[in-house]
Amino acid sequence: MPRVIRPVPDLDDAFFWEAARDGRLVTRACAGCGRIAHPPSPMCPACGSVDWTERELSGRGTIHSWIVSRHPSQPDDAPRIVILVDLEEGIRLVSNLREVDAADVSNEMPVEVFFDEVDGFRLPQFRPAAAQEVSV
Ligand SMILES: [Zn+2]
Repeated sequence: MPRVIRPVPDLDDAFFWEAARDGRLVTRACAGCGRIAHPPSPMCPACGSVDWTERELSGRGTIHSWIVSRHPSQPDDAPRIVILVDLEEGIRLVSNLREVDAADVSNEMPVEVFFDEVDGFRLPQFRPAAAQEVSV
């Protein structure tokens, strides 16, 4: 698995990394108007409130855009797929797509989050969403 630049949590995003350590994908919801935003910011851009609550996300979404990242001097063993995910809740998240070949990736592809430890850090990663079960 590729190396990562470690996250450096600060006052505004420590909650995100603490939740990731527990295998949960979360964001901030404004306590004033309920608006959710990612990445988190100290003040709600909609109503100006500085109060917020933590909201757990479904971890389901679709690929908005993606690239295959190839480092010029220290390439990964396998090319790394970097994705911009449109989450069901209406926010976007940058992550990696795993468990699929780049040849099979397309925009709008349904994906789901899972958590994996990379270089001692537990990170949200995505994989193609499991096919819907068909009831007989
Ligand atoms: Zn607000």
